[in-house]
Amino acid sequence: MDLVLLGAPGSGKGTQADYLQRTLGLTHIASGDLFRDHFQRKTELGLRASEYMARGALVPDPITIAMLRERVSQPDTLKGVLLDGFPRTMEQAIALNEMMATLGRQIDAVLYVEVPDEELVERLSGRLVCRECQVPFHRIANPFDTCPHGRCTGEHLYQRADDAPETVRARLVTFHRQTAPVIDYYGLINLLFTVPGHGSVDDVRRATLDVIRRLDIDKPSG
Ligand code: AMP
Repeated sequence: MDLVLLGAPGSGKGTQADYLQRTLGLTHIASGDLFRDHFQRKTELGLRASEYMARGALVPDPITIAMLRERVSQPDTLKGVLLDGFPRTMEQAIALNEMMATLGRQIDAVLYVEVPDEELVERLSGRLVCRECQVPFHRIANPFDTCPHGRCTGEHLYQRADDAPETVRARLVTFHRQTAPVIDYYGLINLLFTVPGHGSVDDVRRATLDVIRRLDIDKPSG
């Protein structure tokens, strides 16, 4: 099973993705995490991408697509992928079709976690992310309790620089301008499933699993 998880920044898709990859046994590929990993390793790609990320803009398609193509071709994707934050433009959606065709597969479903904009700004200002496993928490709505991977006691939590209010607003503008056509496209080809993302983490998790149960596709074996 190969899934795409779409949602505006702050929609909670990272929280859902972490749960889904463990429940469904899929390889979670988050484009933002890949960029942050490159940046921490000080690769040329990471340094170039960080200029765009710092101002809430999308990294140009050729850079993003090349990075994803390389990641999707690795053997751990054979058990199925959960793409998180990719594709965000039509060019990327078309490139993804080609990548999957090369593997003899195609995307089975696209889950869009939909949240009103007003709620997104409030959520992101309270977001804390684990530097080690990238799992997101929220100071109020989803405070750190235990590490879902059993590795730490919350000492690696930090606030991302691009979660500052001004950058958040820029990221939302970018999302509506560039990713809305991608959502429309997946709707037109009947792959889109919209999950209401405004409830608690558990509500959204239930709604997401309901959608996945209704999908008429095989569960992954690995
Ligand atoms: P995220 O962690 O998904 O919120 O992504 C953080 C930042 O990484 C975004 O604001 C973009 O600058 C960049 N980024 C992540 N995914 C993509 C993508 N598919 N296309 C272009 N830029 C991306």
